[in-house]
Amino acid sequence: MDYSGRLRRLLASLAEHRLDLLLVTHLPNIRYLCGFSGSAGALLIGERVATLFTDGRYRTQAQEEVTGAKIVIGRKAPFLAAGERLAGSAGGGGKIVLGFEAESMSVSMQARLAALLRSRVKLRPAPPLVERLRMVKDAEEIRLIRRAVEMGAGLFAIALKKIRPGTKEVEVAAAMEYQARRAGAEGMSFPTIIAAGKRSAVVHGHASSAAIPARGFVVCDFGVILAGYCSDRTRTVHVGRPSSQARQMYGSVLEAQQAAIAAVGPGVNAADVDFAARKILRKNNLARYFTHSTGHGLGLEIHEAPRLAAAQRQELEPGMVVTIEPGAYIPGRLGVRIEDVVVVTPSGREVLTPTDKELIVVE
Ligand code: ZN
Ligand code: ZN
Repeated sequence: MDYSGRLRRLLASLAEHRLDLLLVTHLPNIRYLCGFSGSAGALLIGERVATLFTDGRYRTQAQEEVTGAKIVIGRKAPFLAAGERLAGSAGGGGKIVLGFEAESMSVSMQARLAALLRSRVKLRPAPPLVERLRMVKDAEEIRLIRRAVEMGAGLFAIALKKIRPGTKEVEVAAAMEYQARRAGAEGMSFPTIIAAGKRSAVVHGHASSAAIPARGFVVCDFGVILAGYCSDRTRTVHVGRPSSQARQMYGSVLEAQQAAIAAVGPGVNAADVDFAARKILRKNNLARYFTHSTGHGLGLEIHEAPRLAAAQRQELEPGMVVTIEPGAYIPGRLGVRIEDVVVVTPSGREVLTPTDKELIVVE
């Protein structure tokens, strides 16, 4: 991984925002900048400093993983250890401006840090600088995401074998997750969603102990983590003969998904991709049942920037990786979602592991 390039770009954006230092506390950002994947850490970055603070549990792991940063093992919470180090080295006068990641720093953490630093260092909430860098993936990251998507896609074959009337949703999810671990996944990107029958209308219907009914949709939304990178895919199948309404709904969601995929490209506004999906569903009187955004970025986290939603002005750039996942959900009755991972390329887009998405009917 190009850690030195990432640090260089981050330092340039610190200068742009008039920050002398940045205290990185969001763990995926720490992993992105120096490779450390432990669950306790704070990374202090500045022109003359790149230091990871962690605790004794991670001594060996930090030595193995970290590139381009000094490692300090402390007894305190890592953000406090970083603050202490800074308070000890800074002179008086409050000339140093320390940016912190507002999204991952609680009010109490901030108060403790401020008490420690007193007037020597000025604390300032920083914009999501590392998240902005993470939006555009390099070739190595895209290779890892591609591998995760390929492994994730293979799990759908397991789901298809398991989905039968009377089987519990959790049994389907368990078979998929077992296979994922056997194949080498670090874990699932999120708890597997298997939502059958009426539950298909529950947008985030985590697999429950409910049995799959004799007739209705089954929404399967699943992903794996491989080498830190996430995959995410949704397929919706129908058990038993689909009604004409079910067929029509599936066809509309698929058409919306294809329209949104076709809209992805460099220079395109995130909101326009969302609009492309919504327009098709509106034409089919389903817009009011499409209750979430069209997609999200993914990488070290399952949900990251950019978001593909109506109010988003982010312009897409080559190297961004997003999901395209429109859906329609009629509460208490039925729901459909179809999701793929798409990479923005210099000439347009590439769907990772494309498949035939005609409605699959399980008899
Ligand atoms: Zn998903
Ligand atoms: Zn998703």
